[in-house]
Amino acid sequence: MPMGLQQMPQPVREVPIAMNAPPANALGGQIEVTDVSKSYGAAGFAKTVVSDCSFTIERGKLTVMIGPSGCGKSTLIRLLAGFESPSSGSITIDGKPVSRPGVDRLVVFQESALFPWMTTYDNIMYGPRARGEDNKVSRDLAEFLLQKVGLGAFRHKYPPQLSGGMQRRAELARAMINNPSVMILDEPFRGLDAMTKKLMQDYYANLYEETRRTTFFVTTDIDEAIFIADRILVMTNIPARVRAVLEVNLPRPRRLEDIIENDDANLIKMEALSLLHEEAMKSFARGSKAAADFVEAYAKRIRKDE
Ligand code: ADP
Ligand code: MG
Repeated sequence: MPMGLQQMPQPVREVPIAMNAPPANALGGQIEVTDVSKSYGAAGFAKTVVSDCSFTIERGKLTVMIGPSGCGKSTLIRLLAGFESPSSGSITIDGKPVSRPGVDRLVVFQESALFPWMTTYDNIMYGPRARGEDNKVSRDLAEFLLQKVGLGAFRHKYPPQLSGGMQRRAELARAMINNPSVMILDEPFRGLDAMTKKLMQDYYANLYEETRRTTFFVTTDIDEAIFIADRILVMTNIPARVRAVLEVNLPRPRRLEDIIENDDANLIKMEALSLLHEEAMKSFARGSKAAADFVEAYAKRIRKDE
């Protein structure tokens, strides 16, 4: 090696090899949802929650789904995760039909799913241990993730001893250690206070930008959607279908401050809000409580923006 090169400062490898490497299924994680419907209840009394829904979750991209609460988003997630099967239509991941849960798709639920009887560290190591992989590679990765999510000093604490934001970060670490090809997040920051929520959004955006892991992120928060998304799927009200696909071609890394001032971001926001408003009004006419709540929240937001 020429002298000059040796003396050059080497980039600091912040991410250990295992995290930097492509996800388990190299460059995998493309999900195709085709004409999916889901109904509950006996024939004649069935309630259709998802109807003829089609979309693609592109590999390496961060796809956000936004829709009013009660429109069927979590139902779609249960189908993607393989916890339930569609009534009709098909869901494939990298061309293979999804038929049951798999470690290739990790779901972070809106309610904390940490085991309360395990410490932060043991929660993070749960996946590797369940696979019989309590080895140095996993322990190093757990260590790295603990630092990465800022919980190094909380490794021996139990979930009830952690703040809401810390619990979400522990959950992210617990999911990340399994190196899934797709991260599926169902309103992961719901219920956090405004400040913590912003920090978590920043945090997740960074994590995504480092790993480019295929992500499907469900939210009801339009600002959150625009800040993190490559693409936004705007859903109809129940039964869920994709009403519009909005591309978010804003440069990365993104900063919350930049997005607020950005004209393109504001155009996307107006478009999404007007579509969501139309959807909410439709079911408002049918007397849905969720839609009424949404219209009220929307009205508040417009007043705040003025
Ligand atoms: P979102 O996540 O968008 O708020 P959900 O997918 O949780 O919406 O729920 C959408 C609708 O589906 C709700 O009206 C809910 O009552 C109904 N639903 C969800 N799961 C079931 C089920 N297992 N049986 C009957 N109805 C259900
Ligand atoms: Mg939900």
